[in-house]
Amino acid sequence: MTLPHERHVLVVFPHPDDEAFGVSGTIANYIQQGIPVTYACLTLGEMGRNLGNPPFATRESLPHIRKQELVDAAKAMGLTDLRMMGLRDKTVEFEDDEEMVQMMTKLIDETNPSLIITFYPNYAVHPDHEATARAVVRAVRRIKEADRPKLYAVAFANNTKDDLGEPDVIHDIRDTREQKLGAMRAHISQTAWMLAEMEKRLAEGEPEAENWLTYERFFNYRWHDDFESEF
Ligand SMILES: [Zn+2]
Repeated sequence: MTLPHERHVLVVFPHPDDEAFGVSGTIANYIQQGIPVTYACLTLGEMGRNLGNPPFATRESLPHIRKQELVDAAKAMGLTDLRMMGLRDKTVEFEDDEEMVQMMTKLIDETNPSLIITFYPNYAVHPDHEATARAVVRAVRRIKEADRPKLYAVAFANNTKDDLGEPDVIHDIRDTREQKLGAMRAHISQTAWMLAEMEKRLAEGEPEAENWLTYERFFNYRWHDDFESEF
């Protein structure tokens, strides 16, 4: 699918593998179209629960493993501008609010994106996801309305459909299916069980699994219904 042209796409998520599930097909698609993409990953996912059974990693080695997986995932998507922002996994919510906003503002100033992709505040389930989403929205909010980049937000909380309705933007990612699978496979320390399950369901031609490799869905952030009213 040919996506509308963008000057630059900035993707911001807290954990290696956050990009793989929901947006790696889209990232690969933009790159294929020659549109520059920057992926800022805030942590190295070093608190990831899965150390394997039997263990393939220790608490000490996991950050190195996940860093390499992130690099491999970027390669699978064709992404060359990967930024590791050096925050600590599971503690993003405790970072100073203003420092988080400053980090996002700096990324935006440097990359001058026409589109930013992150999570949707209050619909992103994990505290690190929520903290990331809040910081991005706050940073974009500070930009004069006419100059703001578009903001595509990924939402997957249970109440998403009830509150936000259907996604505003649906990308057909059939052309970059292999890249998406490549990104998923790169994060093998966290995705092994899920991939095995997914590949089984795909082989059986299950529509849901098929769908997952065919479409990626986004909401336009709703400035008229901002997640916080006082700031
Ligand atoms: Zn995550």
